[in-house]
Amino acid sequence: MVHGQGGFKFQNWAKTYGSSPELYFQPTSVEEIREILDMARQRDKRVKVVGGGHSPSDIACTDDFMIQMGKMNRVLKVDKEKQQVTVEGGIFLSDLNIELSKHGLALANLGAVSEVAAAGVIGTGTHNTGIKHGILPTQVVALTLLTASGEILECSESINADIFQAARLHLGCLGVVLTVTFQCVPQFHLHEVAFPSTLTEVLDHLNDHLQRSQYFRFLWFPHSENVSVIYQDPTNKSPSSSASWWWDYAVGYYLLEFLLWISTFVPSLVCWINRFFFWLLFSSRVENIAISYKIFNYECRFKQHVQDWAIPIEKTKEALLELKAALENNPKMVAHYPVEVRFARGDEIWLSPCFQRDSCYMNIIMYRPYGKNVPRLNYWLTYEGIMKKHGGRPHWAKAHSCTRKDLEKMYPAFPKFCSIREKLDPTGMFLNTYLEKVFY
Ligand SMILES: Cc1cc2nc3c(=O)[nH]c(=O)nc-3n(C[C@H](O)[C@H](O)[C@H](O)COP(=O)(O)OP(=O)(O)OC[C@H]3O[C@@H](n4cnc5c(N)ncnc54)[C@H](O)[C@@H]3O)c2cc1C
Repeated sequence: MVHGQGGFKFQNWAKTYGSSPELYFQPTSVEEIREILDMARQRDKRVKVVGGGHSPSDIACTDDFMIQMGKMNRVLKVDKEKQQVTVEGGIFLSDLNIELSKHGLALANLGAVSEVAAAGVIGTGTHNTGIKHGILPTQVVALTLLTASGEILECSESINADIFQAARLHLGCLGVVLTVTFQCVPQFHLHEVAFPSTLTEVLDHLNDHLQRSQYFRFLWFPHSENVSVIYQDPTNKSPSSSASWWWDYAVGYYLLEFLLWISTFVPSLVCWINRFFFWLLFSSRVENIAISYKIFNYECRFKQHVQDWAIPIEKTKEALLELKAALENNPKMVAHYPVEVRFARGDEIWLSPCFQRDSCYMNIIMYRPYGKNVPRLNYWLTYEGIMKKHGGRPHWAKAHSCTRKDLEKMYPAFPKFCSIREKLDPTGMFLNTYLEKVFY
């Protein structure tokens, strides 16, 4: 019989959200998950499945039953001909990347970290950048779902096609994602070039940058014109990196955390900190070549609050300039660096922030130096206001203030998703506080 642990405390990566599940399970088989769902039904409990626990919101929190999928992490099948891999939902992408490279394969795109689970990244619509590339769920060609009733559903473009369109970005509310099949590409190396520029230059030549590099993104340093442009492109050259400066990046980040902590007492320091670190770490050209996942992933050094909305790509310039003007007009509103600006191709996934439109994601950040919260309410509200005005849709993993009423306006296919959810989970077994806000 499956054993649930009492007294477990769940916290997300950033330690910004947490909960105390009554019972915490780490099942090793589908039968054990079925048992947990049976027990939940009998005791009238809700269930939340968690992957890497990286979501910067309460989307994975519950006080009832929590299922952590870390022990269901096998690679089930590698189809070399179709370049597809089928994995259990709990596998971390860090393990999958290594397994795929043994077969000469890779995922075409990845987010900033890989200590996240296959079912978890698609659950919230994780994205990276590259206007020819969709968000990570667009790489999914099939999946299997264990529903609240204990039934297993195979889903793909040809089987249970409607459920597939919903489950590719599932919010953890349709059932337990048991397996995911990804379309892969041949293994590749990336050549990364980072160089300094200005906000005006990048916004005036946005299309050129988007055409020039397959995985183009840029970092804007608020309270200044400074920008770091990052190009990443496939290459046949061997791995190498620019001669590194004597100042190690890690040392730079320790200093950053200390200075940001000081700035919690003197907020006006933030604009100088942003300028200093741009000069210190981002003002010269840096090159690096490595296997794709080592370039896609980068160090997110210390804990932070984030917001990341997707707006139609043609609104990029207007929205960023409005954010810049708002900061200039409100000297008391401070913003940590960077504002990270990324791009993604439009898709047909019902709850994708890129549904039917090429999009620009604008990620804002406020660090928590030594775990201390820095006031961010004004900055957050100003940013959300600008994003809403330009037709934005929030990243599902990241805390936002939208309710069903807002989401219905943002997502044309929202009613279709709701009707699938209500059919698969009529009693709301997979809901939690975050999802109640979304669906009620
Ligand atoms: C340092 C850091 C860097 C990040 N970088 C990026 C980035 O570059 N781009 C980006 O878009 N996002 C980024 N994120 C957000 C992150 O990609 C998402 O939060 C992602 O969902 C995390 O995956 P996870 O496995 O930790 O999911 P969790 O947070 O554990 O869960 C996410 C959702 O999936 C559900 N779920 C998980 N597994 C299952 C399953 N087997 N069956 C059913 N439901 C399940 C959960 O219930 C929850 O609803 C970052 C987060 C951090 C902390």
